[in-house]
Amino acid sequence: MTGPCDTDFIAAGRNPPAFFGMVNPPVCRASTILYPHLAAFEAGKTHAPGQLTYGRYGTPTTLALEEAMTGLARGHGSLLYPSGLAAISGTLSALLAPGDHLAMIDTAYAPARRFAATHLGRIGVRCDFFAATPAGLRGCLRGDTRVVYLEAPGSLTFEVPDMRALVSAVREQSPGAVIVFDNTWSTPMLFRPLEHGADVVVEAATKYLCGHSDVMMGIATASAAAHARLEPVYRQFGWCVGADDAYAVLRGLRTLGPRLRQHGQTGLELARWLALRPQVERVLHPGLPDHPDHAVWLRDWSGASGLFGIVLRPVAQRAWEAFFDGLAHFGLGGSWGGYESLLFPDDPSRHRSAGAWRTGGRYLRVHAGLEDPRDLIEDLAKAFARMQAAAALD
Ligand SMILES: *Cc1c(COP(=O)(O)O)cnc(C)c1O
Repeated sequence: MTGPCDTDFIAAGRNPPAFFGMVNPPVCRASTILYPHLAAFEAGKTHAPGQLTYGRYGTPTTLALEEAMTGLARGHGSLLYPSGLAAISGTLSALLAPGDHLAMIDTAYAPARRFAATHLGRIGVRCDFFAATPAGLRGCLRGDTRVVYLEAPGSLTFEVPDMRALVSAVREQSPGAVIVFDNTWSTPMLFRPLEHGADVVVEAATKYLCGHSDVMMGIATASAAAHARLEPVYRQFGWCVGADDAYAVLRGLRTLGPRLRQHGQTGLELARWLALRPQVERVLHPGLPDHPDHAVWLRDWSGASGLFGIVLRPVAQRAWEAFFDGLAHFGLGGSWGGYESLLFPDDPSRHRSAGAWRTGGRYLRVHAGLEDPRDLIEDLAKAFARMQAAAALD
């Protein structure tokens, strides 16, 4: 399985001859699309995929992005949703009906868990969360499981379960199930779930694909059979995205390779440095050799992006606040995948129900941006010094 390389990301979704030779497909804003005569109007009523009939059904800009992602993720078709979470909720809504069983990995993105447990529960979908291991999945699968929802590395905690073992468990125990995989951490550059047996890959384009912290978008890319189930529901809900946002994500694709390599390299450099700090209890990064899933990650992934977690030894609130107050380069905020570095304190135990996540320490998610790594390390070193000084006052 040779994945897409930088060259593919440069070519994907571009067609200069169709646009007067312009390098990029232009921003084509549209609601109404006019027909030249009645026969064309009658033909357009089917709104066939790829046909331009109404803004909600696609514009040359959104179609170019769909085509690009379909090729890069090795799928049959892609759909663009107004956010990453909408791609997840839209996909699950299309695949599940009252009475169905959903098996969701315990380490899924917290809002995806909430959608499954609350909205899907309300319409009568039975959802079970399983610990992020093949044994955990095997214990959760049933004959009538309709969807298995995966995300790796795990949200916040970065477990990397063996995808081969997960997929063969599903095919043996629940042959009718569709496998959905949230690939936001990796993008098609680092991992392609459809090549590993998934049926639908969802991705928050908000993160690395856009890469500049200024677009909300989700993309679902699916096999032919799964796409045929997603598309009618997508159309019925009326989801669509603006051409400006599609343009921004297309632009982001062109530099994804070099950006991700730098995010990944800086992330590993920070992870290694953090692992040596006395204040740090654990570093959660699958690229470190002492990570429990390092071998699986090396086998299946072609690199790391810039997001990982750390657990600090317990500190009092005042010292914890001192760590953040005074940061020069790291922003304090959610989302990630933009060019800038971020820190995000959370408590993974709030978002787990099947696997045990217990620690007395403080959890912190780190996004390594594209700044000079030396500046980032200096920023963190000063934060630890402020924390120590505040702790000494207590
Ligand atoms: C951010 C994120 C999402 C949701 O994307 P939004 O565009 O913010 O709705 C989904 N999955 C993962 C893994 C994410 O990190």
